[in-house]
Amino acid sequence: MMPLTDIKAFSKPLLANLSKLGISNIQALLLHLPLRYIDETHITAVRDLRNGESAQVEGEIVHAEVSYKPRKALIARLEDTSGQLTLRFLNFYPSQIAALKVGTTLRVYGEVRTGYFGYEMVHPTCKAVGEKTVVSDTLTPVYPTVAGLTQASLRKAIALVLNQGVLAQEALAETLPASVYQHLGRYPLPSFAASLHALHTPSPDVDLQALENKVTPHWRRLALDELLAQQLSMRKHYARRRSVDAPQFKTSKNLVSALLKSLPFALTLAQQKVAIEIERDLGQPHPMQRLLQGDVGSGKTIVACMAALQSIESGWQVALMAPTEILAEQHYRKMLSWLTPLNIQIAWLTGSQPKKERDAALTKMASGEAQLVIGTHALFQDAVQFKKLGLAIIDEQHRFGVQQRLALRQKGQPEPHQLMMTATPIPRTLSMSYYADLDVSVIDELPPGRSPIVTKLVADTRRDEILQRVREACLRGNQAYWVCPLIEESEVLQLQTADDTYALMQTEFPELRVGLVHGRMKPVEKQTVMSAFSAGDLQLLVATTVIEVGVDVPNASLMVIEHAERMGLSQLHQLRGRVGRGAAKSTCILLYQNQMSDHRLSELARARLKVIYESNDGFAIAQADLHLRGPGEFLGVRQSGVPMLKIADLERDADLLEAAKAMADKLLKDYPTEVERHLDRWMGGVGDLVKV
Ligand code: ADP
Ligand code: MG
Repeated sequence: MMPLTDIKAFSKPLLANLSKLGISNIQALLLHLPLRYIDETHITAVRDLRNGESAQVEGEIVHAEVSYKPRKALIARLEDTSGQLTLRFLNFYPSQIAALKVGTTLRVYGEVRTGYFGYEMVHPTCKAVGEKTVVSDTLTPVYPTVAGLTQASLRKAIALVLNQGVLAQEALAETLPASVYQHLGRYPLPSFAASLHALHTPSPDVDLQALENKVTPHWRRLALDELLAQQLSMRKHYARRRSVDAPQFKTSKNLVSALLKSLPFALTLAQQKVAIEIERDLGQPHPMQRLLQGDVGSGKTIVACMAALQSIESGWQVALMAPTEILAEQHYRKMLSWLTPLNIQIAWLTGSQPKKERDAALTKMASGEAQLVIGTHALFQDAVQFKKLGLAIIDEQHRFGVQQRLALRQKGQPEPHQLMMTATPIPRTLSMSYYADLDVSVIDELPPGRSPIVTKLVADTRRDEILQRVREACLRGNQAYWVCPLIEESEVLQLQTADDTYALMQTEFPELRVGLVHGRMKPVEKQTVMSAFSAGDLQLLVATTVIEVGVDVPNASLMVIEHAERMGLSQLHQLRGRVGRGAAKSTCILLYQNQMSDHRLSELARARLKVIYESNDGFAIAQADLHLRGPGEFLGVRQSGVPMLKIADLERDADLLEAAKAMADKLLKDYPTEVERHLDRWMGGVGDLVKV
């Protein structure tokens, strides 16, 4: 691909700015597509303006002033032959005051609103009109950009490349056979080159709405290309896995059945089903990469334990990694109680344990004496070595990045099997795309005897009632969580809030035994508090969101979450999943603040609370979450390294995703060279898509 540095007309600063946008070659520049468009193809008379619509108006400035009431603003009036329009600037530079001098003829573009003095535009773009000013004959694209790079220079750069035949030849050529684009919808999709031309310089008679909603054939063509690239890359990844060796484990003869016999419960049908899927994978000579999905409380841990035993019985070590120390600790205890009777050697590794203890654990892992190792992120650090790692289990996998999962995989030779677990279900569209390289098992049933959790939405003004309720519940012998407000922007403030809440609860409930747990406590302290709560010695546990994942105390049946409006959907669902784990009827109270005018519930917060209030089903919640946030946010920053889509939208373009899925295998088989070319286009330096 031709680098941009070869283009003589591009200055050094321009190149530097483009590279900030992740653009280093012609292809990437051409695939830098507009966010939206403005219609400067005609001029509207003031008389014909309409509230809420964007328009371009030309006229003479007849009045301009800086007013200070109600707040500082630059206000001007522009007049054409049909009427007057107010222009309002809340932030402005001296140069703008000069540009709006009375008598100047200006062309302004912006959204029209009906204000107190008739029509007005807030912060319109303004252009002085000279003799040479012409009305543009295409819609004007507005691109994502960075500080220092103006729309005008970006437009110029893209137009230059787009219109230079020789330069753009390769970057505009088709990569895949034409048949790919023929049977989608009623008409064949337009060519790649035509699509780029149409999207960078749309003709004024296109349906602007359809264009901005990315549903025109040109957008669809590019969306399909992008989805194809994603599918193809995932398939290749999958195929690679099939060609790699992994240890083959025999079906367990003794350990698994001994474990199951010792349990006070029988597996649910769903647990049995997924256990068989995993057992079969572990018997294959290729590394398993299976995602075990099951709502909070569905019983994933025991299934993981069965897989661990199969590996151990075949003579291979197992690593179990959890995202927080509290959860790792809890797993450690649970595994000790389940596996010590079976004579399994378990080691424990976290970042914060004393050096001596840590060294001892490392030695046992390296010698192979430790058959199962449980820990946090500490497990994939360089110093950590296994003798024979056969299986890596990753709990709450969505909390880890791709890199971290890869690092653990590299601890084994040959490549270990991987079992990932999550309570954040992956909506189908995502499992067909981002997770297409994984096999998925689903536990779709909860163990019997759980009573559903009642969720209540309560305004913070009724806090006293809630406190009373906590008191009564605890005095009745139940246990409760009080979750402190989330303060994401500052760890110090978060800590402060936790301490304050704890102090408050102690004063409020002198008759109760209250505990506190937060992320900054020493592991031993955390552990002491958690065990005390587990054992029933503490009645009320004040906690930060550290208890979000995995914590399992069946007697806790009441949870209060403060400032629930600040939390994300999956976080709320996970937190709520800490109750309803025993037979007692459980309640989760979401306190929200809605009173002060500065804290009016945002639309999004309101939508989230509604979802969590109405649904207990993790799957439906995840679907709603995906819908509210979009896949980029849904997958989270931690998922960086996962190919992100820039053009296609999994919901809007669901039919294209289906098509891409259906075509991928055949393309890989029949057109390997074309596929490589296609992957180079979409995964080579475009920015977010990464070749796997
Ligand atoms: P999660 O899927 O959220 O990780 P856990 O594995 O922590 O759930 O299981 C939740 C609780 O349910 C644990 O106390 C576990 O021992 C219990 N459990 C698991 N499977 C069953 C079952 N089949 N019947 C009854 N209780 C079960
Ligand atoms: Mg769990």
